[in-house]
Amino acid sequence: MTPADDAAPVRPLDKEALKTKYRAERDKRLRADGNDQYIRVAGVFSGYLDDPYTPFQPREPKTDHVEFAFIGGGFAGLVAGARLVEAGITDVRIIEKGGDFGGTWYWNRYPGAQCDTASMIYMPLLEETGHIPREKYAHAPEILEQCQRIGRKYNLYDNALFHTEVKDLTWDEANDVWIITTNRDDRFTARFLGSGTGPLHVPKLPGIPGIESFKGHAFHTSRWDYDYTGGDPLGAPLSKLGDKRVAIIGTGATAVQCVPHLARACKELLVFQRTPSSVDVRANAPIDPEWFASIATAGWQQRWLENFTENQAGGGAEEDLVQDGWTDLSRRIREKMKTIPREQMSPQAMLAAFEDSDFEKMEEIRSRVDSIVGDTQTAQNLKAWYRQLCKRPCFHDAYLQAFNEPSTRLIDTDGKGVERITETGVVVAGVEYPVDCIIYASGFEVGTDYTRRTGFDLTGVDGLKLSQAWSDGMRSLHGLHVRGFPNAFFVQPTQGANLISNVPHNLTDSGRTIATVVAEAKRRGATRVEVTQEAQDAWIALLLTGPGRMMMGSADCTPGYYNNEGQAMGPGAKYNVGYPAGASAYFRYIDGWRKSGKFEGLEFA
Ligand code: NDP
Repeated sequence: MTPADDAAPVRPLDKEALKTKYRAERDKRLRADGNDQYIRVAGVFSGYLDDPYTPFQPREPKTDHVEFAFIGGGFAGLVAGARLVEAGITDVRIIEKGGDFGGTWYWNRYPGAQCDTASMIYMPLLEETGHIPREKYAHAPEILEQCQRIGRKYNLYDNALFHTEVKDLTWDEANDVWIITTNRDDRFTARFLGSGTGPLHVPKLPGIPGIESFKGHAFHTSRWDYDYTGGDPLGAPLSKLGDKRVAIIGTGATAVQCVPHLARACKELLVFQRTPSSVDVRANAPIDPEWFASIATAGWQQRWLENFTENQAGGGAEEDLVQDGWTDLSRRIREKMKTIPREQMSPQAMLAAFEDSDFEKMEEIRSRVDSIVGDTQTAQNLKAWYRQLCKRPCFHDAYLQAFNEPSTRLIDTDGKGVERITETGVVVAGVEYPVDCIIYASGFEVGTDYTRRTGFDLTGVDGLKLSQAWSDGMRSLHGLHVRGFPNAFFVQPTQGANLISNVPHNLTDSGRTIATVVAEAKRRGATRVEVTQEAQDAWIALLLTGPGRMMMGSADCTPGYYNNEGQAMGPGAKYNVGYPAGASAYFRYIDGWRKSGKFEGLEFA
């Protein structure tokens, strides 16, 4: 530090002014139509859903029986399939609407697609497959390859049904099987059923007036049109855009990653922004195989997973193996908490400390914009005025820099969104910007009905529909077993660990539980496994003793899918929580549950 730096006054944060600014920015974005502002990708837009990656293969309908059917060929299905195969249950059929395994990583092949969680913990079954991640934060092609590798290693391809959508699932009480029908005229049975369709798999479009009238080229980021743009998912330049004026609508996590590639390639790139993302440092780096060999002793990935979870969603460990934006965020909060004098410790004091660390972090992220973006007004418009967990935090080392490219312009809409789309362009504040192509980085359906997103309902015991059972909120044991739906497993984080910063950890752990339960059923000669009503009720009662949803989902936040676009969440939202003692504690608990061999809460028959 120079003497001059030393002398510089430390500007205290004006928290009240920041709160007022945050509130004003939220208020100007609140809109009465909430989720209804988005339109379904259907009708004239249905072509946007076509699979650009894999040709459709005709096949005969399936009318047979399998031991385990799993809906969804993303991480959830793959890790459940892998754990089942490891447990000797090999008759597993995965049903997937895409043309291959991968789920979100099958569809999202836009340039620059990359994971924000470190690959050492994000990519499942690294130790089992022997794959050494190439980078600290893996790019999409490597993650897709890992999905395919899991599929091959565990022979999950042989029985999989791709380009197939489940239409109906009905429990057959007389035979203890699920009857499964699909859009490919399949009608087969399965003793056990898994569902892991993921939270963000149905693309949505902004309901901008005139959107259907655009006569140029258009597509959604989750079906990237490389025929039009040139380039490829591995990062080859988008060579066909050199004479194109391109609009991208949306500035969420997806846009943050593809904008730098577009900025380099387009004659002109117009980035239409409603709300800026917070964009922190990425600091990606290759993984050195020698270093990897030195740490990859038996059980390494489980140790890393536990260490990350403890640092991110637990009390903190002595060492931080992963050292990423998520563990940094949690460490800062913990350190702030430690500054509270013991006699002043209270929930309010803890929330205030959390808020202080958030203000500091967001100020740092806003200053980063000033230090990178040359044009002062653009820099001002790129600053995020909300708490960091109000929207998906982003990390990137080329996004803000892209606005220094002469080709690239930020068209900020001051929170209002694009006003209109015409036959030839995009209108904001009465000004029309003619473009050749519109890329919709407008995200995925979240607040819509579960059955609308999946395209099916489950009909369980006595004709009970899952949509009825959950009509006023989700009910389960461990997020996995649901009363009235025997032999079915719901693979997702809610009502379990609820570890959102590393979703695959939840899924791999559930895979282990599924394999343990199915193996136990087979050992006992049982054909039916169901959670008891008492166990489900007790679990829900336990979940409701927790602190509930914290920052994510807060009505104080600027609207987005985290908080139901700023609208009331409904009474069911209180059930969208995890184990009250936190994710680390949950993983310890469920491990004990499995190892105890008692299968408490389940009835086998
Ligand atoms: P998002 O839903 O996060 O973003 C949609 C964007 O479209 C927002 O910026 C939204 O603005 C904007 N928008 C919507 N309507 C309009 C309108 N009328 N005019 C202008 N802009 C509009 O979708 P993404 O695909 O970016 O990300 C979805 C999720 O996928 C992420 O939150 C993340 O969970 C995951 N993801 C993860 C990645 C990773 O791990 N690295 C990478 C990419 C995605 P507003 O904010 O105002 O609503």
